[in-house]
Parts: sequence; structure tokens; C-alpha cells
Amino acid sequence: MKNRPVIPYAKQWIDQADIDAVNRVLTSSRITQGPVIDQFEEAIAQYTGTHYAIAFCNGTAALHGAMHAAGLNSQDQFITSTLSFVASANCGLYKGAEPILRDIASETYCMNTENLPAEAKVIIPIDFGGFPCPLEDLLNDRNKKKTVIIEDAAHALGAVRNHQIVGKQADMTMFSFHPVKHITTAEGGIIVTDSAEYAESLREFRSHGITRDRQKCQKYDGPWYYEMHDLGYNYRITDIQCALGLSQLKKLPGFLQRRRDIAARYDESFRDHPLLTIPPVPANGEHAYHLYPLLLDHRCNRREIFEELKKKGILCQIHYIPIHLQPYYQENFHYQSGDFPSAEDYYKREISIPMYAGLSNDEIHYVIDSILTVLEKK
Ligand SMILES: *Cc1c(COP(=O)(O)O)cnc(C)c1O
Repeated sequence: MKNRPVIPYAKQWIDQADIDAVNRVLTSSRITQGPVIDQFEEAIAQYTGTHYAIAFCNGTAALHGAMHAAGLNSQDQFITSTLSFVASANCGLYKGAEPILRDIASETYCMNTENLPAEAKVIIPIDFGGFPCPLEDLLNDRNKKKTVIIEDAAHALGAVRNHQIVGKQADMTMFSFHPVKHITTAEGGIIVTDSAEYAESLREFRSHGITRDRQKCQKYDGPWYYEMHDLGYNYRITDIQCALGLSQLKKLPGFLQRRRDIAARYDESFRDHPLLTIPPVPANGEHAYHLYPLLLDHRCNRREIFEELKKKGILCQIHYIPIHLQPYYQENFHYQSGDFPSAEDYYKREISIPMYAGLSNDEIHYVIDSILTVLEKK
């Protein structure tokens, strides 16, 4: 057998154009808080068709900013899916609010939105794995109440919902630029929104709660003057990172196409297998395939399959351990095992197989072959 490099579940794509773009900023006079941040924000706003984009040092900080802009506080509740990365819920805890976790709808792996409690100030739906989660019910409901919808689209840059690109439907939408996501800034995240008010609040929050806007200041001492009106953080991203992001964004259409092609190959190979369930496909939309979550039949030993694939050099991952099973959430918020049967059943059976733009045809073939071989022995 030839010696092939290990195949991870996800990996960034960095080429010479990216390196050159970063180098140009590194040798310029400003490596942070310069013009490239604005350029990157402008490009993401344009791509998503939104009025404003505010970049942060990571996606979690961006979500924290969105909670702040929405006015979430310690008297409030917020709703999110138990099937996500912990950041989707932690962002509300930073504001002292109470988490209402929800089970998933097993047709989409996204949050079940039936009979949501009415009191919540914020709802954080997640586009699970890149599947554009259905939002109509939430948006219709929101018009009656004052709930703010903050979409965690960390998995869904370039996904399409009802013929419209993800980013424009919720009140605020977050994308992450961690290396496993569609495009990377190493660490980084962004909020897109059509609201000038949210955008301003997010900008201040990202930089200590400080404003330099003379109109907003209570007095004015001179050109150096700024005022702090609120407690913010240093959540800024750098020009170096945004140069990488801008360069990556040019490749996004190709990245998405490649992910969709890989998914089509996987779908074709696994669709009729009696032990496998392939991921759902959105109606009137397009999946962004951050993940390719394959569900194994109950008869399979997931742990064994995971380890056998690892021996073959295929490093799968499991997405995710439901948030309500985390000790911190159980100890502080009365959640327990058994609360959300659909998410727990999903968690027992899921395996995320390799999915990234740089996966070669030969590697795709090897992954498919290895999975089918490992399953034959079951
Ligand atoms: C990646 C991710 C985030 C944000 O993560 P950062 O690493 O902070 O950029 C948030 N939610 C989900 C579901 C994610 O996958």
C-alpha cells in the first residue's frame, strides 16, 4: 500500500496569492486597524447583499457582540439548538442570560422551531453543517414579538435559502473564518446586518465601548478625543488577517463548487447503503457543506468505525456532543441526559467524513472505498 498523507475531516486551502496578500500588509505601515479591515467588511457585505459587516477577532466574539447589540441581559432568556458547538450558547451566557436549549428536527438536523417559548429575547438558529435552516416560522413570529433572530451561519457562508443567499434574512448573521470553515483568516468572524443601529453598537463593542464620533460625544476636547459609553472588549481583527480573508473570498465560489461536487460523489456512493443515512438536501436552496455528516445505523459500532478509519489515515470527527450533555450546562442549568432524544440519537450515530476544497479525486475515492470496506466487516 502506498504511503499517503493523513486525510483530516477539514483543512484550509492557502496558496501563493494568499501569502502575497498577507506579505503586502506585513510590509505596509499598518498591520492592524488599517484600511484592509474596511475592504474585507465591504466585500463580505457585498457578497451577502447586506448593508453592514463588522469583523471580529473570531466568530465567538462576533456572536458575543451580536448578543450585546440585541440588548440581551441577565433578566433575559435566549433559545438555541443543543446540537451545535458550545459557542452558539456560550455567547448568551457571557451576558448572564438564561439558555433555553432545544432539540433538533431530525429532517434537517437544525433546531426544532415548533412551540418555542414566547419570552425569549434572542433566538440563535444554526445552519447545521451548512444546511440553510428554515427561518420562515421564526421570522413570521418575530414580527409579532420583539425577538431578535441572530443566525449562527458559521457553517453556511454561500448557502442559499429560498433562492436567497444566507446573510440577509435574520436580524444579524454570523460567519466564522476559522481554518475549518469555508474561507479563513486564521481566527476571525463577522456579523452582517441591515441595521445601522446594530452595526454601530457592534463597532463600539469590538473596541472597548469607545466612540470617536464627535456628534455622539458629550463634550469635545480636540482631535484626540474619544468617549467610552458602554463596556466593550478588544475584539478587533487585524489587517493581516483581513488581507488573507479578502484573498480567500475570491476563491469562495470555487471552494463551494468543490464541496458540492464532493458531496454529490459521497451521496451517490452511500445513498443506497443499508447502514448509512446521507445528509438532508434543502428544498429551494443550496447546501454549503461545511460538514458531511453521515449517520450510521444503530447496529454499527461508531467508535470502532472511527478508529478503523483512523488506522487507514482518515481522521473523521464527531459533530457535535450536544450542549446539554456538557457538565457545565448540566451543573448550572438543570439539563440532563435524555432531555433531547433526537439530538442524542443523532450524536450516537454521526460521523463527519472528510470535506474540504483541497480533497483530491484520488482521496475522495480512497475515503469512499475505506468506509465501504470498514462497513463490510460489520
Ligand atoms: C466555528 C463556529 C463558531 C465560531 O467559532 P470561532 O472559532 O470562534 O470562529 C460558532 N458556532 C459554530 C456552530 C461554529 O461551528
